[in-house]
Amino acid sequence: EPVELSEFINQVIEPYSEIAELDSKQFTTNLMATGIVLIDRQRIHQLLVILLDNALKYTESGQAISLDTMIKNKQLIIMVNDTGRGISDQAKKHVFDRFYREDKSGSRATGGTGLGLTIAQWIVDIHKGKITVEDFKPQGTTFKVVLPIK
Ligand code: ATP
Repeated sequence: EPVELSEFINQVIEPYSEIAELDSKQFTTNLMATGIVLIDRQRIHQLLVILLDNALKYTESGQAISLDTMIKNKQLIIMVNDTGRGISDQAKKHVFDRFYREDKSGSRATGGTGLGLTIAQWIVDIHKGKITVEDFKPQGTTFKVVLPIK
């Protein structure tokens, strides 16, 4: 369905800027992708919710989250960056697996089922896109989504 990108992304991030502010986290955006694209609005919304929820979950107050979008070679690129605890090389290999969570303890201090990123991967797959994770030592994680657009 035709989606106007600026309006769509702004709608998605609205609650997150508020939550970040309440948690004393810096939330910034660099939204270079504009115009009308054909994407599944609800599913891409859900994908962004998964990535932004994680970014908030795995950062502490004083740390930062950013969302960047751009269009390059007929692809919509979405990056969710955080300056949180980062992600180990071991975990990087498995984060998209079903039920994988870095915290194995039953304490569920950070909550979650380990299904979020599995669903994210599935949403990206049905759009014939790609999702990758990078970490920036000593701190922080970036999830990058590349979606072919029309
Ligand atoms: P939920 O299902 O509620 O999202 P979850 O966060 O445990 O719970 P996933 O979203 O699938 O599940 O994430 C899997 C694992 O990937 C997490 O347990 C965590 O170890 C790691 N992870 C995901 N996002 C980040 C991030 N931004 N920074 C650090 N680790 C992350």
